Amino acid sequence: MKSQDIRKQFLQFFQDRGHLIVPSAPIVTKDDPTLMFNNSGMAQFKEFFLGNGTPKSKRIADTQKCLRVSGKHNDLEDVGFDTYHHTMFEMLGNWSFGDYFKKEAINWAWELLTETYKIPKDILYVTVFEGSPEENVPFDQEAYDIWKGLIAEDRILLGNKKDNFWEMGDQGPCGPCSEIHVDIRSAEEKALVPGKDLINNDHPQVVEIWNNVFMEFNRKADKSLEKLPAQHVDTGMGFERLCMVLQGVQSNYDTDVFTPLIQKIESITGTKYNSKAANAEEEKVNIAIRVIADHVRAVAFAIADGQLPSNGGAGYVIRRILRRAIRYGFTFLNTKEPFINELVAVLAAQMGDFFPEIKSQQSLVTNVIREEEASFLRTLDQGLILLNDLMISHTEQLSKQKLEIAGDYIFKLYDTFGFPEDLTALILKENGFTYDKEGFDAELKKQKERSRGANEVAKGDWVILTEGNTETFVGYDQLENEVKIT
Ligand code: ATP
Ligand code: MG
Ligand code: MG
Ligand code: MG
Repeated sequence: MKSQDIRKQFLQFFQDRGHLIVPSAPIVTKDDPTLMFNNSGMAQFKEFFLGNGTPKSKRIADTQKCLRVSGKHNDLEDVGFDTYHHTMFEMLGNWSFGDYFKKEAINWAWELLTETYKIPKDILYVTVFEGSPEENVPFDQEAYDIWKGLIAEDRILLGNKKDNFWEMGDQGPCGPCSEIHVDIRSAEEKALVPGKDLINNDHPQVVEIWNNVFMEFNRKADKSLEKLPAQHVDTGMGFERLCMVLQGVQSNYDTDVFTPLIQKIESITGTKYNSKAANAEEEKVNIAIRVIADHVRAVAFAIADGQLPSNGGAGYVIRRILRRAIRYGFTFLNTKEPFINELVAVLAAQMGDFFPEIKSQQSLVTNVIREEEASFLRTLDQGLILLNDLMISHTEQLSKQKLEIAGDYIFKLYDTFGFPEDLTALILKENGFTYDKEGFDAELKKQKERSRGANEVAKGDWVILTEGNTETFVGYDQLENEVKIT
């Protein structure tokens, strides 16, 4: 089944059960000071759970563009290295605002997965909250009993507070979750280690696909719990992981969400993606291809939603994601010219029917990415030479045991050259070096104190994009690229 149809079936299923289907909120949040990017389906409904305002319908479903690259949920470091965490992903979700509760939510989740999508029951596991007496939260007997009617009892596992209890903050709505996991390993592998031992254990073929949160309690200031007067359901299912299961492949990158992008990367760069890499060299190419295929989505959707790369706030996060992709291409795919921008057309063709913003903003997105690529490739060329010199001079100076570079050197590269710290750290690590992180942080702090106006600058990066204003961005990047290395 094509990914487009998988998404459609999810929405249809919940529409048929009385849910209003709403569009995704933008990937960048504009009026939530606590959150830079939407990182879950529920973010746009947060206020309803806090009792502020009423939703258009008591039952809602959608697919939300999410970005997990900052704050509480930051998956960036895993992206490219594993095959199931993305920076940008779609979270399919259904909600009940004071309407249905555990019985309907669990039964529908099960019906959708096993009847509509026809996932074999014997590759699924579910988890239920085990309870936490010290925090006054009980075992979720109700969910357990509902699952018992649907799935073999040895496939119901108990989970701890970290994985199976959700709370908005120290106070406020909270409740147990029940998660659904798949085990898509081969029969031989399953015979060696039972799936239940691999749940929440970073196995690429034993992954969580759907989280069902039951907002049942209110945590008061004195930490005690009371039942909420109206109970809510909040669910989130990873769309790309679901596609992996339904398309019978072993990695999100082997689904049709990613294969068109990967094919384009292969044809531009003359490299080959091989999901079963034979050696470390091939794996490096794979990682680079995954990083680029992933990051272009994050960056393209962020720009389409109005967040240009910049030097502050959310814009800086977007710039760093794009630079990470450029750097992986530069180092492992040997790309010395801009090319990531060419992937936008593939993305627009593939996603544009459902997310029209990526089509209507296609030329803006392409141009912004191309400009960023061109300027960062210049920076990389010069920066790598400097970093290389730095490593050579330090190798001579220091004993072989302590290849640590002073923080202020690294800071200089960052500050005057736009060379991100994480990139420097990666290159150093690959060459057997470390650096004085504390020293770097101290320099960074000093610089922040020097430039107190930085916040105003960051705010100024928000732009309202409308069709046709694609010219306005040109040159936004010029100032910061004046290279003054001393
Ligand atoms: P994981 O344990 O795999 O990191 P999670 O528990 O952090 O996932 P939730 O916050 O419960 O994830 O989000 C709901 C669903 O969204 C998950 O069950 C998963 O299918 C999907 N998901 C979460 N993070 C990512 C990601 N970085 N990339 C792709 N899908 C994700
Ligand atoms: Mg996670
Ligand atoms: Mg989890
Ligand atoms: Mg989860």
